[in-house]
Amino acid sequence: MAEEKGLTPRAQDFSAWYNEVVLRAELADYSPVRGCMVIRPWGYAIWELMQGALDRMIKETGHQNAYFPLFIPLSFIEREREHVEGFAPELAIVTHAGGKELEEALVVRPTSETIIYAMFAKWVQSYRDLPLLYNQWGNVVRWELRTRLFLRTTEFLWQEGHTAHATEEEAEEETRRMLGVYRTFMEQWLAMPPLTGLKSDSEKFAGAKRTYACEALMQDNRALQAGTSHHLGQNFSRQFDLKFQTQEGREDYAWNTSWGATTRLVGALVMTHGDDAGIVVPPLLAPTQVIIVPIWKTDEQRAAVLGKAQEIAKALGTAARVKVDDRDFLTAGSKFYEWEAKGVPLRLEIGPKDLAKQQVMLVRRIVPDGAARKEALSETLAVQQIPERLSGIQRAMLAEATRRREANSHRGVRTFDQLREIVDGVGGFIYTGWCGSSVCETKVKEETKATIRVIPDAEFRSAEMPATCVVCGEPAATEVVWAKAY
Ligand SMILES: [Zn+2]
Repeated sequence: MAEEKGLTPRAQDFSAWYNEVVLRAELADYSPVRGCMVIRPWGYAIWELMQGALDRMIKETGHQNAYFPLFIPLSFIEREREHVEGFAPELAIVTHAGGKELEEALVVRPTSETIIYAMFAKWVQSYRDLPLLYNQWGNVVRWELRTRLFLRTTEFLWQEGHTAHATEEEAEEETRRMLGVYRTFMEQWLAMPPLTGLKSDSEKFAGAKRTYACEALMQDNRALQAGTSHHLGQNFSRQFDLKFQTQEGREDYAWNTSWGATTRLVGALVMTHGDDAGIVVPPLLAPTQVIIVPIWKTDEQRAAVLGKAQEIAKALGTAARVKVDDRDFLTAGSKFYEWEAKGVPLRLEIGPKDLAKQQVMLVRRIVPDGAARKEALSETLAVQQIPERLSGIQRAMLAEATRRREANSHRGVRTFDQLREIVDGVGGFIYTGWCGSSVCETKVKEETKATIRVIPDAEFRSAEMPATCVVCGEPAATEVVWAKAY
């Protein structure tokens, strides 16, 4: 590890800081293939914890996992007009395989609506076969021109849910339900409170009737789309002949939804909680929650402190994910530095003096609630209190992220000049009125680079609905939230 060279501070260059912390925490590395990334064990372990939690929530809401192929016939992608227009520039297409040219070109999936609904069409005959509630964990490829580790990569990992329903109402309910699942997951596990709402037509998924999204505010006051849920209407089922016989004996097309969350969430975690010493992982997602660092000078001390460290790790058992850093070739200082960069929430230091007093030093990675960073605790007390300390940190991190989001939300913005000043200056979520016209939306996007992140859900809307559109001054059709986004 290129040690002791400090990280670029966030305030100086957030983007440089981001790249440096991702590398230093050993979350990921650049790959020989441009735009792809290698997810290293620490980053992958965080992803696996996210995956485990989200997978349980997806199954608890009645979905089953399945797996569909990586390759999709090019003709499938071309069937839904908006879908192909949206994805064409990013497609990776296989034309040769097995030493010869293929009869039909294959697309490396950018998303799986087409192949999944083509298969659903084979399995659904009657309303009794519905709903189909499927989820798939896998990888997808979108040939991006500008890439960033985790935030935008040519290949990424995700889950994509795909469902088919007998009625529009059911599909809408499902779309909203999964948006809620994402929101809960982000709040409870990532300690990241997203705004939720509807996308404007120009920002919706290619081929969807409606797209709902979770938008989180990063520390540089840019928004990050962290999860989306699409009501697809009957667009895909018409193209793939996904028909069924209704209860009344009529023939109808099924109503589809799809929803996804990706390894981008690891980048979101970094930019929500990281500090100038490295990343900070919410306890629930920390592969190691407690790192025990024994400190010694002599061999005799080494045996004694290591013995105690292992005893404490054992006493904690399954109450926390604990690891003893017993590496001989590193100083205690280097170990502190490494685990801080990796964002481990709690560190226990045990030296000969602590041993004599039957105590340990408990050091917190961050102190969002203003508690002491370092405190001496008796061995027994430390073991007893660690689970509660971890959940306290998890809660405090969500509270701090929520406070920061609200502190950087600007309401009551009435004029385009005010909007521009905030976008060019401090940034954040900007709430304004909007007439609903794409002309006004495009003007803001072209002149400020801010976009409509969402038409916010009721609970996020301002107490007083803005009366006029921030661009044209005509009566507002709705309130919207603008921000520059990743
Ligand atoms: Zn307008």
